[in-house]
Amino acid sequence: MAATGKRPLLLVSNDDGVGAAGLKALREALQQLGDVVVVAPESNQSAGSHSITIERPLRHRRVDTGVHAVDGTPADCIFIALHRQTILPRRPDLVVSGINHGPNLGNDIYYSGTVAAAREGALRGIPAMACSLCGGSDFTAAAALAATLARRLLASELPSDQAVLLNVNFPPAPYRGVRATQLGSRRYDDEVTVRHDPRGREYYWIGGSGAHHDWVDGSDTAAIDQRCVSVTPLQLRGTHDSHAQLAALVADVVL
Ligand code: MN
Repeated sequence: MAATGKRPLLLVSNDDGVGAAGLKALREALQQLGDVVVVAPESNQSAGSHSITIERPLRHRRVDTGVHAVDGTPADCIFIALHRQTILPRRPDLVVSGINHGPNLGNDIYYSGTVAAAREGALRGIPAMACSLCGGSDFTAAAALAATLARRLLASELPSDQAVLLNVNFPPAPYRGVRATQLGSRRYDDEVTVRHDPRGREYYWIGGSGAHHDWVDGSDTAAIDQRCVSVTPLQLRGTHDSHAQLAALVADVVL
């Protein structure tokens, strides 16, 4: 916990929009831990990944005490919150994103706005956690357990030399356990749906169909399959493990 003697300050966002039920449940559960400030997108930004808005103005709206909407992306929300003391009075002790309406498993982390909001905090050295509900719309149990995990994060001696970013997925309750996992692989079926609009023009719809995954021991998808809560620690460093081997690809390029 921050050694300021103050109540912890938690910055909360999501990608489903400021009115989402998962966000409301998360906010209410986290209020037992400290001061909570919500800065969330005005509208649904799911699958918006880590984009930021740089070509138009961003508008802010105070929705309620400690609840703010920004008409941008999840990353915009964290970015603005961390730079506007009128919105967030001091540097937060924790960033929590969610609870997403739907899973963020395996490859989803690259598309997810929920994960991106947490990642934006982690990129700035603030411990962060992304929370997602895999099925159903009852956020009660997930919010309670998210608060437990947040409390543990606030109380932990965290590594100071690397970012702390947890990707948490909740199956529908009741839970059979909580597991530390690795990312599995999750692929979307029928990647492009082709239809025609009323004027006969073709249009495409992606991400509208189901997803599937293979069984991978110790993965987030396996944990959810077994109705366990999945906690995947993510890293921000993107360099490949076999960096030297791949770097050889360019070693003898002649200019
Ligand atoms: Mn979402």
